[in-house]
Amino acid sequence: MSLQIHNTLSRSLEEITPRPGEGKSLSLYTCGPTIYAHAHIGNFRAYVFEDLLQRHLQERGFAVRRVMNLTDVDDKTIRGAHAAGIALGDYTRPFKEAFFQDVKTLRLLPAEAYPAATDPEQIARMIAMIGTLMERGHAYQAEDGSVYFRIASFADYGKLAHVDLEGQRPGQRVASDEYEKEAVADFALWKAWVPEDGAVGWESPWGKGRPGWHIECSAMATGLLGETIDIHCGGVDNIFPHHEAEIAQCECAGHGKAPFVRYWMHCAHLMVEGSKMAKSAGNFFTLRDLLEKGWTGREVRYALISVHYRGALNFTLEGLGAARTALGRLDAWRERLTDTSGAETQAEAPGSATGEFFTALDDDLNISGALAVLFETLRESNRRMDEGALTPPQARGLLNWLARVDSVLALEPEALASLPPEVEKLGEERAAARAAKEWKKSDEIRDQIAALGWAVKDTKDGQKITKG
Ligand SMILES: [Zn+2]
Repeated sequence: MSLQIHNTLSRSLEEITPRPGEGKSLSLYTCGPTIYAHAHIGNFRAYVFEDLLQRHLQERGFAVRRVMNLTDVDDKTIRGAHAAGIALGDYTRPFKEAFFQDVKTLRLLPAEAYPAATDPEQIARMIAMIGTLMERGHAYQAEDGSVYFRIASFADYGKLAHVDLEGQRPGQRVASDEYEKEAVADFALWKAWVPEDGAVGWESPWGKGRPGWHIECSAMATGLLGETIDIHCGGVDNIFPHHEAEIAQCECAGHGKAPFVRYWMHCAHLMVEGSKMAKSAGNFFTLRDLLEKGWTGREVRYALISVHYRGALNFTLEGLGAARTALGRLDAWRERLTDTSGAETQAEAPGSATGEFFTALDDDLNISGALAVLFETLRESNRRMDEGALTPPQARGLLNWLARVDSVLALEPEALASLPPEVEKLGEERAAARAAKEWKKSDEIRDQIAALGWAVKDTKDGQKITKG
């Protein structure tokens, strides 16, 4: 079966194929955070979905080149810096650092590049792209000094969001980075400097100013990945105006032969405890809030990944509890398989259709189907172990399969995911001591490992170190 995804542009399922001459490689652009605050779990739902997509594509043999931008200058970041009374860079820096910590906590694969909008190289690209749009008559400078995209010049405007341009008066303009469909109008590419911008501004052929949010992504995406990008992802709230504007800018500034993006994928909204997440409603969570309440990144990842990306996700503390239970069952099963297994492997996992885990994901990332296969396999093999009917090579075969599942879900226990280097080193020393029958030394090292919060268990396959 081929790998199919739902393309927002065509509103239908399409098979993912690389471009001719590109081998089995795909470029992936994912809209990154606007770093004016800590990213919240609604943001992370999109990033976890994109991570699942990338990991499954890789499991299916695609080489994925992914770029994620960091929006470190826009209306919100400038407002935040202004309110805090500090320079823009000083305001965004801690949020940028926190974002990368969160990426690690949620086990998101790092992108190949994280271009920041304020990087001079990126600003130069944006200015060049706006220059091309001006030359081609797709943009104009208005009386307010800002440069706007002329949507009447692009017949395809509205094709992604299915916005009807009938009744729009040409020349209407909107300067803010975010607006509703009802306010569709020429949008800002370059915003002329105003006193509220303070020290934020760059020189351009149209005077001092700053880029609009949409041109940032267009310039960084095409600059790093080329004029046509295979897959572009984001949350549904990015469809309009952000992605619609990205299409208009790129297809008007490009060579006109190919679309800007071949497959558009969008992740649905996240609700918390049944309602829209809002600070005023007291149901607004950053990842940090959840870690403070005692949940782990792995549990949050499970809760976010286990609902299909196009379905609304109702994030609840009860759901996190269910994630904890499910992970506990997986961990216990993994332990049991390890205890049962021998060194010898049986290539095919026994008595179950384990390949179906991956074919379920081929169907537009059908995670419910994939998890059903995983837990059915768990139940079936536990039953066989109860009966003493699962042979060591069969158990080893299941563990090998589980390692492939881990490469896609990244839900393995903490100990497997990240043994700290000092613990790993002590583990090696202890294994050497045991091989040399230096029992006293081995016990001492075990105590040292325990002092670091890790437990050592000796099994017939050697020592196992787990979080104590
Ligand atoms: Zn973007």
